[in-house]
Amino acid sequence: MSAQPSCLIVGAGMAGLTAASALSAGGWQVTVVDKGRGVGGRMATRRIGDARFDHGAQFFTVRDPKFQEQVELWVGRGWVAPWFEDGGHVRNMVIGGMSQLAKHLAAPLNVRTGVKLSEVRPLGRGWKATSDTGESFDADALLLTAPPEQSLALLGDCAGGLADGVVAELQAVDFDPCFALMVLLNGPSQVPEPGYFRPESGPLEWLADNSRKGVSAGLSSALTVHATGDFSRLNFDRPTDEVASQLLAAAAPWLGSSVESWQLHRWKYAKPVAGTWPGSLFSQTPSRVAFAGDGLAGGRVEGAFISGLAAARSLKY
Ligand SMILES: Cc1cc2nc3c(=O)[nH]c(=O)nc-3n(C[C@H](O)[C@H](O)[C@H](O)COP(=O)(O)OP(=O)(O)OC[C@H]3O[C@@H](n4cnc5c(N)ncnc54)[C@H](O)[C@@H]3O)c2cc1C
Repeated sequence: MSAQPSCLIVGAGMAGLTAASALSAGGWQVTVVDKGRGVGGRMATRRIGDARFDHGAQFFTVRDPKFQEQVELWVGRGWVAPWFEDGGHVRNMVIGGMSQLAKHLAAPLNVRTGVKLSEVRPLGRGWKATSDTGESFDADALLLTAPPEQSLALLGDCAGGLADGVVAELQAVDFDPCFALMVLLNGPSQVPEPGYFRPESGPLEWLADNSRKGVSAGLSSALTVHATGDFSRLNFDRPTDEVASQLLAAAAPWLGSSVESWQLHRWKYAKPVAGTWPGSLFSQTPSRVAFAGDGLAGGRVEGAFISGLAAARSLKY
């Protein structure tokens, strides 16, 4: 490796940005690429007109002391605030919407959005990555934070050169999909304070009123409706209109006002439901590569943070 080692990180979600910050602080030259239009991955916020919807992660909890320390820093900067408490755990929200935290974290880093990698191959003692538009990126080390199935697809045949056990750990990860329906209402919703409801049965897992949450301003209400993993898996390939009608019908008791418009997002890899949760994975062969992401750490924003830190540490040694 050169005097200032370089790392290419695939994914500008919580895992990738956390690893990028740690490696940059350690003197690495880091490039982060993400296929999305913006940063944040599943910490996602979408605008419809003036309304704003958190349509991926809704909040995050804190259990690990390192994450606690980090969250306290974010709270001190006015980026994060408690939303509500449930079962003894504070649910934290991001001021301005979940993706805003990723924007803060990405600001001092070298991040390229709208870059979808289609192939990564070992090159000399490092890696060469190629995007679907033919742009190439060289680095001494590679860090993959996409869901494991996608990372394995990027590696193609060279996954066979990874250290023993790594492929098996990656293949053990299974994700539930999730439909996220964003509903714009012309008045107040029936979602109770402080802006969320968890139905106990039916196709819905979660409803949130982004206006009550404080993420969306204005007179309209911005509702996020998440379907359960079972419903989403069973209906994933059905036409958008059919899925949306069924979810809107199920959400009717909480709407309270007329629907102005809606958009449906299909999260193919929403939450990991099976895996061995190693935290992160590292292989010295076929060239120095680490894997991170919530799929290796039991899901959740906190898992992605811990995983990103662990992967950065594994690359340093
Ligand atoms: C509907 C939903 C609700 C959730 N609710 C909660 C919650 O309330 N609390 C909680 O803690 N967690 C929740 N989660 C989980 C949480 O969002 C994730 O654990 C966390 O955001 C994962 O971060 P990550 O960095 O591991 O992955 P991601 O955020 O998925 O980042 C991976 C990135 O890799 C990029 N990428 C993939 N392939 C390529 C490629 N070929 N080229 C370039 N870029 C690529 C993707 O675009 C993506 O941005 C929820 C998730 C969903 C979907």
